[in-house]
Amino acid sequence: MKLKISNLKKCYDQKGVIENLSLEVEDIQVLSLIGASGSGKSTLLRLIAGLESFEAGSIEVNGHNVVESEAVEYRKKVGFVFQDHNLFSHLSIYENIMLVLEKVHHRNRTEVEPEVKKLLEQFGLMEHAEKLPHQISGGQSQRASIVRALSIRPELILLDEPTSSLDPILTHEVLSAVKLLAEDSIDFIIVTHEIGFAKSVADYIVFMEEGKIIEQGDRNILESPKSPELKRFLSKVLTFDGGQM
Ligand code: ADP
Ligand code: MG
Repeated sequence: MKLKISNLKKCYDQKGVIENLSLEVEDIQVLSLIGASGSGKSTLLRLIAGLESFEAGSIEVNGHNVVESEAVEYRKKVGFVFQDHNLFSHLSIYENIMLVLEKVHHRNRTEVEPEVKKLLEQFGLMEHAEKLPHQISGGQSQRASIVRALSIRPELILLDEPTSSLDPILTHEVLSAVKLLAEDSIDFIIVTHEIGFAKSVADYIVFMEEGKIIEQGDRNILESPKSPELKRFLSKVLTFDGGQM
């Protein structure tokens, strides 16, 4: 992906949550956003997704200027997997996927069926396709959200802490699925507190604190952080391994 964010400012209730943030990367496939809770990661992800307006600055994704009010077409090329409540509870896994394809993307059901089945197969969900979201496990439900995001053939997938509500085994299951996709050369921006995962999959790391980027670079910054802020963050993450960030 090519991402160019210039002097971005976002406020909620007149309080700046993203402050004059700039970021420029090119030829990056998996970008990982890390930082403590409240540092602005989810907000930044929503802005990149074209889901919200902002006060100042600009966002360019793969040459596309992201402006919330004009982002209808752009949003169709972006897959989202957010923390919770990703699936409609009254629809089967299969219908959850079909709904987006038919209603938002106006795709023909019989035409997309083989593709969707292939994805369900790939993510080990074929036998659960007819179940309702509450009838499957948290890990399966997150994988179903990923399949739904992928089924639209996105240019970019945005994942916001896709494993935050999962136990270690399910976390492993979901992260393995994401890693598999990364090998498939799909572009990702992933907010995660799984530092081990970021180390093994991300080719660029952005560390945020209080709405600003404090440090960025390849995964080596996780081995040898320069800023005191990232050092402090990493030591906390290691001390409370598995804790919610
Ligand atoms: P993170 O994802 O890193 O935990 P967020 O982007 O969710 O951080 O939040 C950054 C800051 O913005 C926090 O102080 C949060 O309380 C505030 N914030 C986030 N979303 C909203 C909102 N919709 N309305 C008001 N404040 C918000
Ligand atoms: Mg968040």
